[in-house]
Amino acid sequence: MANQKKKQNKKQPKKHFKTYKLRIDATKQLGLDIVKENKKTIPIFIPHFGCKNECVFCNQRRISGQQKPVYPEDVKVQIDDVLNKYKQDEKEIEVAFFGGSFTGIDTKLQIEYLEVVKEYLDKGLINSIRISTRPDYIDQNILNILKEYKVKIIELGVQSMDEEVLKNSKRGHTVEDVKRASKLIKENGFILGHQLMCGLPGSTYEKEQYSIEQSLALNPDIMRIYPVYVLEDSELYDMNKKKKYRPLELEDALNRATIMYKKCIEKGVNVIRVGLQTTEEISQKNTKLIGPVCDNYRERILSRIMLEIIEEKLDKKKLDYKIDKNKEKNKITILKLIVPSNQVNYAVGNNKCNKKYLEEKDVCYIKVVQKNKT
Ligand code: SF4
Repeated sequence: MANQKKKQNKKQPKKHFKTYKLRIDATKQLGLDIVKENKKTIPIFIPHFGCKNECVFCNQRRISGQQKPVYPEDVKVQIDDVLNKYKQDEKEIEVAFFGGSFTGIDTKLQIEYLEVVKEYLDKGLINSIRISTRPDYIDQNILNILKEYKVKIIELGVQSMDEEVLKNSKRGHTVEDVKRASKLIKENGFILGHQLMCGLPGSTYEKEQYSIEQSLALNPDIMRIYPVYVLEDSELYDMNKKKKYRPLELEDALNRATIMYKKCIEKGVNVIRVGLQTTEEISQKNTKLIGPVCDNYRERILSRIMLEIIEEKLDKKKLDYKIDKNKEKNKITILKLIVPSNQVNYAVGNNKCNKKYLEEKDVCYIKVVQKNKT
């Protein structure tokens, strides 16, 4: 028995291991060096009752009957609630009015909301205010009010810089409105945010690249990128049913959003969000939601950028780590990717996709290790 084992062992061919090391630091390309907003946000969702617009992707008009109105006293309750639970630290605290278009609300009510927050600002309990609105709801008078109440950030729903796409989406404003509003916001010293969408009706890859370039030319400070989801109770939902609109496939949405993200990073613009905020309704778990639904757009985009960088570096370095598995059965090559700790996840990829892809393509084993652990 022992002799038999010895014979078997003898027959086992010796394996040869060879390790290659590749150091990568993609801080710049991933945009990790752009100062991120380190703040606590108190979100106040103001449903936009009586919004005169009918953007095809929005369900606000149709569901407004199901939404509870938010009164100024509710804003106070919501702020107190967060402040009572929140342990003050060095973080800035902002109140953000989301949902609909803040400056489209009746001016008297806008002021009542802002008055509530002012009390907290005056006491130093809140540091800033953020609002989101439409480009055609901005003029000097409106900005004067926002300035008086110390609003710091104004985010504009730009969505596209292509007239035809804006029309198809029934946005009800023009590219010129975006340019005029952006200029005015910057001239008045506010922080300007742009929100762009990909996959709107009639939009194409080229139109979206054009849109992001045109948007960046207006010098926004922050950006949100939203691939279009088809919400129930929206016109897009009906269009999709009638086959007049087809949502993007996830792969396509990821490609488009990745290029938009990269253009922002090149310009030093902070992308504060990619993909709609995950909620119970807006989530991959909601099987009724149609479109390129993804709960972790940012992670997947950064993984893609990282893979591009790894492949580029491998090509440049001309590392001879690729083997022919059939011919060289006993040769095992290990490619060690040495990256900073905050980039390990992106190097490995979402569900290990980068690791698997490289191992399959180049027949080697990939080990991703933290920079300081080599
Ligand atoms: S996206 Fe804004 S402007 Fe358009 S319909 Fe919805 S609430 Fe109104």
